[in-house]
Amino acid sequence: MGKLTLTLQERCVIAENTMSFRFDLGGQAWAFRPGQFVRITLINPPFQDEKGAARSLSIASSPQEPGLLVATRMTGSAFKRVLGELPLGAPVQVAGPFGAFVLDNESSAPAVFLAGGIGITPFRAMIRDALDRGSSRAMTLFYANRTPEDAAFLDEFEAWKHQSAGFRLVAIMSQAEKSRRGWTGRTGLLDAALLRETLGDASRPAYYAAGPPRFMAGVQAALTQAGVRQEQIHEDEFMGYP
Ligand SMILES: Cc1cc2nc3c(=O)[nH]c(=O)nc-3n(C[C@H](O)[C@H](O)[C@H](O)COP(=O)(O)OP(=O)(O)OC[C@H]3O[C@@H](n4cnc5c(N)ncnc54)[C@H](O)[C@@H]3O)c2cc1C
Repeated sequence: MGKLTLTLQERCVIAENTMSFRFDLGGQAWAFRPGQFVRITLINPPFQDEKGAARSLSIASSPQEPGLLVATRMTGSAFKRVLGELPLGAPVQVAGPFGAFVLDNESSAPAVFLAGGIGITPFRAMIRDALDRGSSRAMTLFYANRTPEDAAFLDEFEAWKHQSAGFRLVAIMSQAEKSRRGWTGRTGLLDAALLRETLGDASRPAYYAAGPPRFMAGVQAALTQAGVRQEQIHEDEFMGYP
């Protein structure tokens, strides 16, 4: 754990109201495990609100990728507005890594990832890391969004399916009818029927769920209904979202 000053290297719009930010490590040695998060503090922000100048954000990059990648919904909060307008090369303070939401690499049990919206960030790190290491572990990503336009990194996951026979993607949209680009994939909510249909025997995998509190409540109910035991489930709740 430590505190670093990193500079903004790249900023991209990656989905509706959603941006990614890559920070340059500037040659500093820094280790983390995929699934962990950092606390980013803005330095002398031009404006602030009562919620302050720092937020916890999951690391979205794998340790093999350059720099530190985070991604967030641009909600209009003072923090997000300042971050969204930060000039390239500007410094921020980064504390961490924090958290124990990490894959057990000793286990060979299939890994099932359940992501709600921006809860995808720690899974991008875990999946990219597994692919970078040539891991043969079976991984299934359930990725729930309202529309495909809302689904950050979706194109990457579609491409990664072809990089590893062990990686399966099940993307599901709850408001597909609102999509401008159209969606011919699965629609509805991530429920017990979808888990059973995709996984068959639900008793073996290790489950990792991340997202806003409302998504987490729904997923917890679906997992219980599908017969998954509590000790099989690891959770990362993105507090601060509804
Ligand atoms: C482990 C973890 C990982 C996360 N990873 C991500 C991620 O990868 N991407 C992402 O977008 N979000 C992530 N979040 C959520 C993120 O920290 C923010 O809460 C969220 O992005 C909403 O921030 P906001 O500025 O849009 O909303 P706001 O409502 O402005 O801010 C919410 C934040 O303010 C704090 N807060 C609320 N009320 C007050 C108050 N009165 N005084 C002081 N503080 C207050 C909350 O604790 C919360 O951290 C993560 C959260 C956790 C805990």
